[in-house]
This record gives sequence, C-alpha cells and structure tokens, in this order.
Amino acid sequence: MSTLYEVYAIKYAHHERRASENFIGGDPHDGPMPLDYFVWLVRGAGREVVVDTGFSAAMARKRGRDHLRCPAEALRLLQCDPSSVKDVVITHLHYDHVGNFDLFPAATLHLQDVEMHYATGRHMGEERHRFAYEVEEVVGMVRRVYEKRVHFHNGDEEIAPGISLHLIGGHTMGMQAVRVATRRGWLVLASDASHFYANMEQGRPFPIVFSVPDMVAGYERLRVLAASPAHIIPGHDPLVMQRYPAPSKALEGVVVRLD
Ligand SMILES: [Zn+2]
Repeated sequence: MSTLYEVYAIKYAHHERRASENFIGGDPHDGPMPLDYFVWLVRGAGREVVVDTGFSAAMARKRGRDHLRCPAEALRLLQCDPSSVKDVVITHLHYDHVGNFDLFPAATLHLQDVEMHYATGRHMGEERHRFAYEVEEVVGMVRRVYEKRVHFHNGDEEIAPGISLHLIGGHTMGMQAVRVATRRGWLVLASDASHFYANMEQGRPFPIVFSVPDMVAGYERLRVLAASPAHIIPGHDPLVMQRYPAPSKALEGVVVRLD
C-alpha cells in the first residue's frame, strides 16, 4: 500500500422507519430503526473520487424523505468542487445513489455492466424491482453513455492505485462496493451491500433484494476485502455518524472521517 487516502462520509438525508422494514421476515424486537443517507469522498495523491451522488430536495419530497442538504454542495464543505471532480463511482442506480449526477459535469461515472443491464432490462417490468429506480435517471445515464462519460466495469477492477471496485450483486444485479487503501488499512465502502451493520453482522438481508444468496455471500466478500469487520462502512446506518469523528467542530453531525 503506497498511496493512502482520506475517506469521508457526508450525511445528506434521513428517513424514519421501523426495524421490521429493514430485514427479510421482519424483526421480533420491532422498534425505530431509521436510515441515514450518505455520499462519500475519497481523497489523496492529488486525486478526488466521489462515491455516489445522492438525491435532490425535489426527489426527497416525491419519496417522503427528510432532505438535509444537497450532497454536491456539501462536498464544498470539504473544499471539493463538484464541477471539477473527474471520477464518480455509482455503486448502483437506485434513486438515493445516482440522483444529482448532472451536478458532476466533468466526471467519468464508474458503473458495473450488469447494473445497466438490470436497470434497462426485463426485470424493470416488475414494480418490486423497479420502484427504487427513477426512469429519468436511468435514461440520463444512457445519455451519459452516448457522451462517452460512463466507464463500465465487469467485476473487480482497480480505478487508481489503492482504489478498487468490487461487484457484489445481491441488493441489485450490479451493486458494487469500493475498497480504499487508508492509513488504518483496507477500508470498504459497502454501500447497499449492507445497509446496516446488523444486516451483515447477523446475516439478515435487507428486504429490497435482487438475489438473497448473492447478498448473503456479499457479506462474506466484504469481510474478505476489508482489513477487519470494523473497516466495513455500511450504506445507511446512523451508527456511522456515532462511531467516527467529525473532521472539524463545524462539520459535526454532517461529515465524519472514516480513515
Ligand atoms: Zn441506498
């Protein structure tokens, strides 16, 4: 590991829900178990990679989520200018991960082949597979392909020294995680390969799922990729904001530093 990166989680939205909605088969100890929504910034060696682009205030209204701040604007709190970012990883094409991608006009978007196949193929005829996708965003991504602004990946690939993408599947057909070399070892941004710590720690999948076997296998995959279980960052767990420190007093409750 020669190049080491800083990694930040930026919280941009919130949604109250119950534990029974977060596990297949519900939860016997049902109680409040809210979701936080994040985008992530990887920075080092003169490089900035944004992981996911979140959703807009308008989409939050449509979907009934609490929008706290524009994810692209929030990057400016870390002196990252969204209009000049060159690389954006889209972990998958669900509305809460790919909205706002037009706010990154200079970026190449990194996406798995099978995620585009899934989002534009036969399974979108089913409401249960389609409902977390927004057709205009998927169409927008197709337009981006025609502008030669999408870099497709097939499986596991390094996009820079110490930053690699890993096809996990499970939650969607082309869900990918991001592994980053940091000063504390290999860190894995799981995104929705595990929404909460509890999903992977207890082997209890989140109910929005394309393939349950792939999702469960994905938990093991995350553990193999990361330096330790404590190096895996789930995609929506409010505990992330508690377990990691803010980079400054001013950013408390908004940004935490993961490395
Ligand atoms: Zn999500």
